[in-house]
Amino acid sequence: MNPLDPLIQELKKWPGIGEKSAQRLAFFLLSLKQNDVTKMAHTMVDTRDSIKYCKDCFNISLHDQCHICSSTKRDRASLCIVAEPKDIFAIEKTHAYTGIYHVLGGLISPLDGVHPESLRIKELIQRIQNNTFHEVLFAINPSIEGDSTSLYLTSLLEPFKLNITKLAYGLPMGSDIDYADEITLTKAISARREITNSIPIMP
Ligand SMILES: [Zn+2]
Repeated sequence: MNPLDPLIQELKKWPGIGEKSAQRLAFFLLSLKQNDVTKMAHTMVDTRDSIKYCKDCFNISLHDQCHICSSTKRDRASLCIVAEPKDIFAIEKTHAYTGIYHVLGGLISPLDGVHPESLRIKELIQRIQNNTFHEVLFAINPSIEGDSTSLYLTSLLEPFKLNITKLAYGLPMGSDIDYADEITLTKAISARREITNSIPIMP
């Protein structure tokens, strides 16, 4: 057996890493000093062990409440709904949004066994009932799952008479928020538009 095989098999589990990249990374690891490899391995284990989920928005956090929910500088009347914590990272990098977040934990996808009850929708409704939000912004990937989730949530939130907005996209269908470049995402946030259920009347 190739002595690097066990490491290559582990590295191949990482997203975007195929056989060749795994091999390259394995040789890179061999080129590092023993101390640096130990530090890297410890950082991975420590990070995984210390990360928990914010009790309010379900973002990843080192404490019970994440740094965004505990900040005094955020606009608490604006709630941005995202599928995953990685979407918060992408939006925060743009500095174009100053409100707080709610992480659903995925998107509705019956084929993959993800139903509304598997997501943090009950918690979302509770937050909306217990707080005063002037705006709810859907920052959800433009995809079949994203669109059906937005549609489902829009009808669920209808009785609350909120100003529901969604990102204006310069992004093609099926693209990921966390892969969007910062300029495109900043534009999508600044030009967000209201979702209306009514059909516009033609002149
Ligand atoms: Zn939070």
